[in-house]
Amino acid sequence: MVSVSRRRFLQITAGIAALAAATGSATQVLGNSGHGEARARKGGPLRKVPTFCDLCFWKCGAIAYAEGGRLWKIEGNPADPLSRGRLCPRGTAGVAMATDTQRLTRPLLRKKQRGEEVWTAVTWDEALDFIATKMRRIREQHGPESMALFSHGLGGNFLKHTFKAWGTPNITAPSYAQCRGPRDAGFTLTFGEDVGSPERTDIRNARCLTLIGSHLGENMHNTQVQEFAEAVGSGATVIVVDPRYSVVASKAKHYLPIKPGTDMALLLAWMNVLVRENLYDREYVAAHGEGFAEFAADIAPWTPEWAWPITGIAPETIRETAREMARHRPASLVHPGRHVTWYGDDAQRARAVALLNALLGTWGRKGGFYAPTRMSVPPYPYPPYPKSERGTADNPDGKYPFAEEVLSSGIREATLTGRPYPVKGWFVYSTNLMQALPNQEETIKAIQNLDLMVVVDVVGSDIAGWADVVLPEAVYLERYDDLNAELFREPFLALRQPVVPPPADQKPNWWIARELAMRLGLGAYYPWKHVEEYLDTRLKSAGFSLAELKEKGIVPGKPGPLYYEDGLVPEFPTPSGKIEFFSRQLADAGLAPVPRYTPTPEPPEGYFRLLFGRAPVHTFGRTQTNPLLSEMMEENTVWLNEDVANRLGFTSGELVTLRNQDGATAGPVKVRPTQRIRRDCVFLVHGFAQTSKGIAARFKKGASDSRLVTRYVLDPVMGGNGMNVNFVTLERGV
Ligand code: SF4
Repeated sequence: MVSVSRRRFLQITAGIAALAAATGSATQVLGNSGHGEARARKGGPLRKVPTFCDLCFWKCGAIAYAEGGRLWKIEGNPADPLSRGRLCPRGTAGVAMATDTQRLTRPLLRKKQRGEEVWTAVTWDEALDFIATKMRRIREQHGPESMALFSHGLGGNFLKHTFKAWGTPNITAPSYAQCRGPRDAGFTLTFGEDVGSPERTDIRNARCLTLIGSHLGENMHNTQVQEFAEAVGSGATVIVVDPRYSVVASKAKHYLPIKPGTDMALLLAWMNVLVRENLYDREYVAAHGEGFAEFAADIAPWTPEWAWPITGIAPETIRETAREMARHRPASLVHPGRHVTWYGDDAQRARAVALLNALLGTWGRKGGFYAPTRMSVPPYPYPPYPKSERGTADNPDGKYPFAEEVLSSGIREATLTGRPYPVKGWFVYSTNLMQALPNQEETIKAIQNLDLMVVVDVVGSDIAGWADVVLPEAVYLERYDDLNAELFREPFLALRQPVVPPPADQKPNWWIARELAMRLGLGAYYPWKHVEEYLDTRLKSAGFSLAELKEKGIVPGKPGPLYYEDGLVPEFPTPSGKIEFFSRQLADAGLAPVPRYTPTPEPPEGYFRLLFGRAPVHTFGRTQTNPLLSEMMEENTVWLNEDVANRLGFTSGELVTLRNQDGATAGPVKVRPTQRIRRDCVFLVHGFAQTSKGIAARFKKGASDSRLVTRYVLDPVMGGNGMNVNFVTLERGV
């Protein structure tokens, strides 16, 4: 394995200046020098507590240091295969999440109209009794399914348990229909399995890595960025397709500044070249493929010359990059991406990415997609959950035939329309629905139809502002969560455990879930009194103990074969048992069995397509009140092509208001003229400009892309929400 220096890793995590600032800030506050350690020890013995990070969902193993009840610093756990001893800038700032002065401190009960954010602080008993009474009333009037749980991350597991015991199947995460869902559907339709999370991408061994609108480094998933640094360090070819010259584009041999909305045409043309020039892995396709002849006939017209006027990518570039991919196969990974809800044909585009990988023979191969394994830990022996007769409310009549999870937008729709049955209660855990779902007006209208709206969070986010009850949660450094036994390259078992107590009246999610269940008459589902009993029972059934995990934080498992060449048996759980180049499932559902390009509307004259993405120091709105991270990036800017800025007379740092095609506005936001973006689009980092009264004004800077995403296109395959279909103008001033 090629080792990557800390310096190289940081370079790839994005703007070097920003990261230098990140490192500097962390050092200054946390004191990782000998001097700092000596200072910390003055107040008592230094404790080292292994746990795992919650600044995003990646769950990197970490070691937290505390002096008595005071957190000191946090760093990567070298025993953890996800962090490999290094945290990203956000993870390093985890301590500041606990000391954030914006934290919610007590349960709050709404006193006036929803959204006015006038509250009374109440006790936990009062808050939970209120919720339980409302839930019982909803069940009497509408049935248990009329309560929905929106949840994000591992911390939602105990609440999911309570809601399953309650009898609702309406348990949903915006990370599906608003993010990775089309990818999961596209890969499952092709290979019979999705790519998982963390993704099963063997980036470190790739000799050619193709990234399509995927911003590793800005999209800061620790392991992937470390592996990307290794791949680059060992000379892998990088091909980047993006309307914006991202950080990874700066490492690329081939950068293709594609016209937004036309990626499908490029994918079809690449596949056309591979088939026409016999560059694909014929042996692999013959052994594992189904319907290749129909597929090849279908893509025959989609030549590079056909794709050129659509994509803006010259035929010779399309051919050259296709040949480059083929030269390195099977270690030629076309990354599946993660946030892929762009234009509404996203599951088909993800399927085209899967098919391109199939032609390159990457599934199950070194440098492509490995086979992940996980530690086997039996579930807690709870009684069976009640079965819902009505099914979920999100996808009536199976309108989206390949939706594998409950659609958050579908729950919102059922709440708005009362069909297929009324949804009257939302319980929202750790997800800011105002930023995650498109069209905020629809979300607000749906909320106004509710009889109960509860939000559990650590700060007063936008969605908390619309709640009837707000419950303050302990942050990850103050609580246990469920065990983490992720599917990964090296199986492992990890424990999140409290390092310090909560500073005020915040409670861990397991306690909230259990207390609510007891009030709902669901005590049979909580035979344990404290989560330590739950964890120890599960761990003992797997041959470990809580005491062992508390000390080690992580225990490794035995990896299985990763690739076919290691003895992994090729298995494709599709209907045909093979890789489906031609999908009979899609054809039977009246959908294209081989992906097709469909044009997406272009910006009207004077408008730019709105693109949005991430920054390495923030996890959407979740980290913006973190003092260390907000110091590094306190607001977003609107990226505008420099030539366009000059033509329109916009200068760097000038404040503008963004107005979309429907009149929605966002800003004021500073203009960032740059050659790093095409002329037909603008770019914002997602999650800025929260509006909640619960957050101090200094954290509300920049422009909210979510306010501008009033339109979205529903994916006919799985119901995803294509959101890159909004156009904006820039108006001077505030
Ligand atoms: S990627 Fe960063 S924020 Fe996410 S879990 Fe890992 S260290 Fe934490």
